[in-house]
Amino acid sequence: MANIPHVVILGGGFGGLSAANELRNALPSSQVKITVIDKKDWFMVGFVKLWIINGTRTFENSTGSLNELQKKEIDFIKDEILSINLEDKNVTTKTKEISFDFLIISMGAVLAPQRIPGLEQNGFNLYDHNHLLEIRKKLESIESGKIAISIMGMPYKCPPAPFEASLLIDSMLRKRGVRDSVQIDFYSPAPITLPAAGLEVSKQILELVNSEQIVFHNSCKIKSVESKKLIFENSEADFDLLLAVPPHIAPKVIYDSGLAKASGFIPIDRDCKTPFENVFAIGDVTSLTVVENMAVPKAGIFAEGEGITVAKNIISKIQSKEESVLFDGKGGCFIESGRDTASVIEVDMFSQSKPTTSLTELTSDNLSKKIEFEKERLSKWL
Ligand SMILES: Cc1cc2nc3c(=O)[nH]c(=O)nc-3n(C[C@H](O)[C@H](O)[C@H](O)COP(=O)(O)OP(=O)(O)OC[C@H]3O[C@@H](n4cnc5c(N)ncnc54)[C@H](O)[C@@H]3O)c2cc1C
Repeated sequence: MANIPHVVILGGGFGGLSAANELRNALPSSQVKITVIDKKDWFMVGFVKLWIINGTRTFENSTGSLNELQKKEIDFIKDEILSINLEDKNVTTKTKEISFDFLIISMGAVLAPQRIPGLEQNGFNLYDHNHLLEIRKKLESIESGKIAISIMGMPYKCPPAPFEASLLIDSMLRKRGVRDSVQIDFYSPAPITLPAAGLEVSKQILELVNSEQIVFHNSCKIKSVESKKLIFENSEADFDLLLAVPPHIAPKVIYDSGLAKASGFIPIDRDCKTPFENVFAIGDVTSLTVVENMAVPKAGIFAEGEGITVAKNIISKIQSKEESVLFDGKGGCFIESGRDTASVIEVDMFSQSKPTTSLTELTSDNLSKKIEFEKERLSKWL
């Protein structure tokens, strides 16, 4: 190890930024060199995408600049990561080769609409920031017809978000006075609304969307999309406007490095270690099994918790201490109702080795907490 250990963090999203800040808050630059690499130089909290769709935000007034990291003596490199060389302990970007003592892989999940034939030609990607303004324009002009929200692969980021999207869209249409002429259908490959949150919370989410006349169609496994038509394995459905959550995959670099198998994510345990010494993986790029057939959901709050866990363990190692911590699996996800209230899905993934979840009441206080959550992340990380 060089004199000052070098922690390289791949990805400046939820996981990467929480880890970088936790490290720097504990250790000065004389004790650890930190480098964050990301192909883009901005960060935005994921749920703001829905506020851009409903017109309460713009992209420009919702991002933080990763160049701000420099003020904390965290180096930021804006570049595309092309390869991770685990044996040689270095990372290659388009323009550089960067060696590391510790590596934190927090490269998120990639949206793969190309995996569904016809989707790119016939529908919008609800999670792609480049589609948000166009979606908003469509919602501001639709007078009648059918809107389909369709989940096209599991797992996907923030399981409640598409339901929240349906409620915010319902609200937009109600305010425009056209809701009675527009049908909103929600299609999911899952048998219940939120499998990761369990039966009871799923039932409550179903009641919430049904109370706004949003129709939930379960077990709809997508095969392809045609003009104004969804083709599922066992049925078909018409739409006028399609908002899709496409399949999620890991970045190509991850498969090339052998850290994950094709279509999968990097398997980790609660210590977020990979089989390679001092190489950790966190957040959406990973798969952390909770119980059989259930993994920690892909959500910023969990990426953040894993980032802090890994940072703490690296700090211990640098300080030659024995202590180590495990990711606690606790977190909460907001779900906005579209009626100026929100509730929180509270999750404890590893409570007595069995996950527990609950849904709080819809209150305006929870909506304020959601707004505060975003502000806090931007101000403490950048
Ligand atoms: C609409 C929506 C609503 C959401 N709501 C919530 C919510 O309420 N609560 C919640 O907790 N989560 C929410 N999420 C989910 C949350 O945004 C993600 O789970 C979170 O961002 C994951 O963090 P991460 O660090 O793993 O990955 P990311 O934040 O995606 O960061 C990964 C970074 O890696 C970079 N990268 C990837 N490949 C390369 C490469 N080859 N070279 C260079 N850089 C690369 C990317 O540019 C990106 O910046 C929501 C998401 C969406 C889309």
